Amino acid sequence: MTLDPSWLAEGAAHVWRPYCQMKTAAPPLAVARTEGARLILEDGRDLVDGIASWWTACHGYNHPHIRAAVQRQLEFAPHMMFGGLAHEPAYRLATRLAKALPGDLDHVFFAESGSVSVEIAMKMAIQFWINRGVHGRTRFLAFRGGYHGDTLATMTVCDPEEGMHSLFAGVMPDQVIADLPTDEASEAALDRLLAQRGGEIAAILVEPRVQGAGGMLFHDDETLRRLRRLADVYGVLLIFDEIFVGFGRTGDLFACEGARVVPDIVTLSKSLTGGTLPLSAAIATGKVFNAFWSDDPGAALMHGPTYMGNPLACAAANASLDLFETGAWRADVPRIAQGLAEGLEACRGGPGVADVRVLGAIGVVEFEAPVPVQSFCQKFAEAGAWIRPMGKVVYLTPAFVTSDAEVALLTAAVRSVVLG
Ligand SMILES: *Cc1c(COP(=O)(O)O)cnc(C)c1O
Repeated sequence: MTLDPSWLAEGAAHVWRPYCQMKTAAPPLAVARTEGARLILEDGRDLVDGIASWWTACHGYNHPHIRAAVQRQLEFAPHMMFGGLAHEPAYRLATRLAKALPGDLDHVFFAESGSVSVEIAMKMAIQFWINRGVHGRTRFLAFRGGYHGDTLATMTVCDPEEGMHSLFAGVMPDQVIADLPTDEASEAALDRLLAQRGGEIAAILVEPRVQGAGGMLFHDDETLRRLRRLADVYGVLLIFDEIFVGFGRTGDLFACEGARVVPDIVTLSKSLTGGTLPLSAAIATGKVFNAFWSDDPGAALMHGPTYMGNPLACAAANASLDLFETGAWRADVPRIAQGLAEGLEACRGGPGVADVRVLGAIGVVEFEAPVPVQSFCQKFAEAGAWIRPMGKVVYLTPAFVTSDAEVALLTAAVRSVVLG
C-alpha cells in the first residue's frame, strides 16, 4: 500500500474528471513524470503507455527535439493573439501542413482542440453554401460508429446509439446518420438517401480508415473513394476528420494521402504537436476558401478562438513535423503493427472475444459486450501497462518509439487479462 501524494487527496474534492461517474470511479493514477513510452507514477511504478495519452504522444513523451523547440519559443513569445498579428511558428506550420497534405488543401484555420476544429469545419461547410447563394444546405451526413467530439454540434454527428451522447437526443438539430458505404449494397443505399435528401446536406463528415472512439472500426480505401464519388455526384462537400488517423497512425502520414482521396476540408489535432500542447486545424481546399474570398465583409469566416495558433503549440507542431520528416516512423509503424498482430492473435477465440484486428499502429481486441473498464485498467496496471478500454474494445495505439520489448509487454498484459 502506497501513500497518495497530498495534492491528489486535496484536489480530488475539486477536480471533475472526464467521462467519469465521480461517485463510483476508482481514484486516478498519480503520475510524477513521463518519458518516452512510459508513465512514471508517484509511487515509483512505471507503466508502458499503450494508448499514447489518447493518441497524442506519437513520438513518445518529452521528446528532446520537441521540448527544445518549445523551450526556445518560450524565450521569444509564449502567446499572442492571432487577430491582426502574425508569428513565425504558425505561418511556417501552415505552409508545411499545406505542403504535406494532398491536392489543394492549402488554407489552414487553427484552433485549440479537435472538437472545435470539427465545429469550424462544419461552420465552413454551411457558410460555403450560404456564400454561394444556395439555401437549405444546413445538415451533415455522418456515419454509424463515428465520433467527432463532445461539444454540442459535434455530438450530433457522432453515432447516435453507440456514442456517449444519446442523452442529448432532441436537444440539437438531427443530422442524417447512415451506414458507411463499405460495399455495393450500402453504396446503393447511400446513393438513394442522397438522391432524396442531398439538397439539405452541406457536407459528408467521416473519419477516414478508422472510426476511433466509436469502437476502432476499420474500413477500406474503396469506401472513401465511394464517398468522394457520391459527394461529387450530389454536389456536397466532403470532410475528413483525421484527428485520430492523421500523422502516421495507419501507416501513411494522412489517410487521405494514402487513400488518394482529396476531401474538401480536413481536420487535424491529437498528434499534431506530438502530444505536447493543445492545437488543432481545419484545412480547406481552394474551392472552399474561394467561397469566402469576396469584397463583401459579410462573406468572411467569423471565427477566432482566443488561443488559436498559439506559438508554443505551433513550435511543438513544427518540431513534430521535423521528426516525421526524418522518416523513422515509416519503419516504426509496420514494426509495431507486426508486434501487435503477433501479440494479440492469441486473444482470438478467447472468452467473449468477437474480433482481433490490427491496422498500422492500432491493435484491437473487440468483445461481444462492453468491458468493465475499471477492473481491466487495474489489472493492466498490475501487468505494467497503461491501457484504458473503450466500450467493447481493448485497444493499443502506442507511441511510434515504443520498443519491441515494450510492445510485447503491452500485448502480454492484454493476453493475461483477456485469457485470464
Ligand atoms: C478525439 C477526437 C475528436 C475530438 O477532439 P478533442 O480534442 O477531444 O476535442 C474529434 N474527432 C476525432 C476523430 C477524434 O478522435
